[in-house]
Amino acid sequence: MISDSFSYEALPGRVVFGQGTLSHVAQEAERLGGSRAIVVCGAEQADLGQAVFDGLAARGAALFPGAVMHTPVDVSDTATRIAQDAGSDLIVSVGGGSATGLGKAIALRTGLPLLAIPTTYAGSEATPILGQSENGLKTTQRDLKVQPKTVLYDVDLTIGMPLDLSVTSGVNAMAHAVEALYAKDGNPITSLMAESGIAALASALPRIRRDGADLQARTDALYGAWLCGVCLGTVGMSLHHKLCHTLGGSFGLPHAPTHCVVLPHALAYNAAAAPDAMIRIARALGAPSAAGGLFDLLVELEAPTSLRGIGMLEADLDRAAELAVQSPYWNPRPVKVTGIRKLLANAFAGVRPE
Ligand code: NAD
Repeated sequence: MISDSFSYEALPGRVVFGQGTLSHVAQEAERLGGSRAIVVCGAEQADLGQAVFDGLAARGAALFPGAVMHTPVDVSDTATRIAQDAGSDLIVSVGGGSATGLGKAIALRTGLPLLAIPTTYAGSEATPILGQSENGLKTTQRDLKVQPKTVLYDVDLTIGMPLDLSVTSGVNAMAHAVEALYAKDGNPITSLMAESGIAALASALPRIRRDGADLQARTDALYGAWLCGVCLGTVGMSLHHKLCHTLGGSFGLPHAPTHCVVLPHALAYNAAAAPDAMIRIARALGAPSAAGGLFDLLVELEAPTSLRGIGMLEADLDRAAELAVQSPYWNPRPVKVTGIRKLLANAFAGVRPE
């Protein structure tokens, strides 16, 4: 039932999804008018970067296997120079959110089109958002220039993704969809994608935990990750994302594991203020409650469930609560320091939220 007025702005972009789609890379580059592409990837995925470069054949001009976490400005500047020296007319990124981030950073600096080939479930390829770091500070911006013009999802590239990364980047993706369901600028279309994205990942991740080579599960998870990424790109995020940015930015906690630990507690905090969203999340999880159901899924997936377990110090919880309430994102329930301190205490201990 549509209970309110809404606005919805679809993001532009072409998506090619399936198994073996990497073999279309030269064709997709051509569609974008690319004849001198720069391929960017992380050092651990240099072989994959080389395979993409080889797949581009005459359309490949440079390969930069230097993407690292948090998109540092100096790395992006170096890669941009290499692209310019090679006369590049297209950027091709292959890898997780870090490689996509580097591709976006070059797109921002040059205006060149980006073809993204994601290999994790983080979802960056579906958004016009770029986070960059300089002198220990991470800033985020939205700009349509960084939105990939084409995303090539190839399920084959995710088969070898380590199980821990599969789970944590999958839950990271679910967090986007969860917050989309109670977003201030939420709308029925994004909510459809959010509920389907959560359901796809909630069903796929346990199967992947049992067998990382389960092709159907890998297909479902990658599809879910795309939907969840679109949610992040389309509507605003709330308390959960603010907490994760605070914990990652000021206390050095790892990005995707932090999303895992915090999500059930952010949901519990917001439950009474967003009852419709909780019904949809619980339904997507196939669980009696959203927060409890998500926590149980994390346990089943052997995912991190406590801040203590991922390196947070108890002595830092007070400061984290204070930082988290500064310039808060819009949230369905007012964000107050005492409530947030309690949330963080529960997340620190890893207790199951009711
Ligand atoms: P990542 O890109 O940092 O990759 C983590 C590690 O996994 C790397 O060592 C990489 O080489 C390896 N890896 C990636 N795919 C693999 C595969 N299929 N098989 C084996 N190893 C593989 O991690 P991530 O979780 O994908 O991305 C996290 C980053 O993305 C963060 O910096 C986050 O801020 C950013 N992010 C941005 C957005 C956005 O919209 N701007 C959205 C989500 C995440």
